[in-house]
Amino acid sequence: MTATPQSILENTFGYPEFRPVQLEVIERTLQGGDSLVLLPTGGGKSLCYQIPALLSEGCALVISPLIALMQDQVMGLEQAGIDAAYLNSTLSSQEQSDVYSRLDDGSTKLLYIAPERLMQPATLERLSRYNVSLIAVDEAHCVSQWGHDFREDYLLLGALTNTFPSVPIVALTATATAPVRKEIIERLQLREARQFVTGFDRPNIRYEVQSKQSPKQQLSSFLARHRGNSGIVYCMSRKKTQSTAETLVAAGFDALPYHAGLDANIRARHQRRFLTDEGVVIVATIAFGMGIDKPDVRFVVHLDLPKSMEAYYQETGRAGRDGLPSEAWMIYGLQDVVRLRQMVDESPGSDEHKRKERAKLDALLGWCEVTSCRRISLLDYFGDTLEEPCGNCDVCQLPPEVFDGTEAAQKLMSTVYRTGQRFGAVYVLDVLTGKASDKMTNNGHTELSVFGIGSEYTTTQWRSILRQLLVLGFLKVDTAGYGGIQLTQKSRSLLRGEIALPLRRDLLVSQKSHKPKASKAPINAADSDLFDALRACRKELATEHGVPPYIIFHDTTLAHMATVKPQTKTEMLSVSGVGQTKLDRFGTEFLNVIETYITTLQTKTP
Ligand code: ADP
Ligand code: ZN
Repeated sequence: MTATPQSILENTFGYPEFRPVQLEVIERTLQGGDSLVLLPTGGGKSLCYQIPALLSEGCALVISPLIALMQDQVMGLEQAGIDAAYLNSTLSSQEQSDVYSRLDDGSTKLLYIAPERLMQPATLERLSRYNVSLIAVDEAHCVSQWGHDFREDYLLLGALTNTFPSVPIVALTATATAPVRKEIIERLQLREARQFVTGFDRPNIRYEVQSKQSPKQQLSSFLARHRGNSGIVYCMSRKKTQSTAETLVAAGFDALPYHAGLDANIRARHQRRFLTDEGVVIVATIAFGMGIDKPDVRFVVHLDLPKSMEAYYQETGRAGRDGLPSEAWMIYGLQDVVRLRQMVDESPGSDEHKRKERAKLDALLGWCEVTSCRRISLLDYFGDTLEEPCGNCDVCQLPPEVFDGTEAAQKLMSTVYRTGQRFGAVYVLDVLTGKASDKMTNNGHTELSVFGIGSEYTTTQWRSILRQLLVLGFLKVDTAGYGGIQLTQKSRSLLRGEIALPLRRDLLVSQKSHKPKASKAPINAADSDLFDALRACRKELATEHGVPPYIIFHDTTLAHMATVKPQTKTEMLSVSGVGQTKLDRFGTEFLNVIETYITTLQTKTP
């Protein structure tokens, strides 16, 4: 029987069906054409080049920017019985010559390599002597200077078509707007490239944004539904990373800090723990994440705002690559708005650059405040449409109450105006709510008509109103001066009562909120004991083989196994994610676990 894409998918990878675009890209590549593939994270980009590589003579070159990623991929392929290797700076010269002699034998089907390494003349010369079946450029957006991950060494890749004129190229990325896509095609010199694009939606990720009231308490009640799960908690500063990790450890979580200030060895160790152990929470600055391919990250938390929608999408995209329910949870407040606006204004760079950054930040802030489905506006930002509200975001599940904020806004703006547009949020709100201080008395502000006119709301409520007015541009922070709150052009129409202003009422932390189900066991409760037993078995095998558990089987596969409960090898093959090689290697162990489980059940039932 000759192998086909479908037979490789089933026998080697253990999946019954292709995901969108996979088969088209595979066929295009097998016919020798170039492609640009845009699939969201977890969409299944790897199979797009792995399967044609297995179906072709010779060896495929896979260009990947990150060493950790290469090792992970090669390890996974080896477990599936595929001959793969990587070339990078971590190899000794002996290991390198081993890689080359396997290439000489013609046994290696996929060679992972870093761009700067590949483009060295000696390497190119050597590799051009082999039969190269295809070239895959992973994370292709790194070639774009307009993208957010530009890497100098990716520019060199434009010369590839000279060395390998008749080898098909497949460029892959998870993030690329239309101009970036155009740039990728030009810079990599793709020939008559066909573009394969699927939507940006990550339906298994639930989005939630809360207003920041008592961050520690909010975080701990969020994490309560994620005990035992792996996740990432992003903070802005190293210090906060450190202290948050300590708080979580004290609360019984297996939490580890990660930031650029830590010793490289410690960082590497923490990253490894996160990858190989189950249920580790990494508390990190944005230094963490690029190239983290762990499929079972169940949540991504932002304790501080990222700087753009792009960054938010990319960071939250690290959750749920395996397609199981996962959460993106963020808290933000007045302080974040003020600080980020300030950071943008004070950043170096041209006015034009600042204008762009400001627009990006405003898009994110606006998104935090939306009063209709978050997913619809998130996708809209990336030019993607979703017809119906998703039902899997906080706004869909618990629509925020909207109230007429016109009068409140007028009171707040008058207070800003009367106090001279020189004071920060705390002072302005104290005048408004009538909390006198010596400073205020000295300034004569207790005598103002606006003193205490805002007693109908608490300070927390006023902070929410002020935050929204800043986001909507009715007030601004004087970042050039001392950070005082000031009126804007837009303020006037509101002060004159020409327009009405609907505002959202923040949920109070103490209020009962909609609690989504814990997403730990992706199967029904009856089978969860078996699922846990299968996970324990996987853990043992992983330790024995020195690989992360997900390299053996993903949670999705174990969940399916716990539901199907196969009792023979043939039945085991029907489980999604179980291919022939993995069946041969691990099948017996897992069948034993299932058998023991069934026997215990039978002896229990009279
Ligand atoms: P990406 O690189 O696009 O983020 P991966 O290639 O790592 O995604 O694939 C994500 C997950 O989906 C992997 O666990 C992979 O094994 C799985 N997968 C890929 N293709 C299929 C398929 N056709 N059916 C089921 N699972 C798939
Ligand atoms: Zn929604």
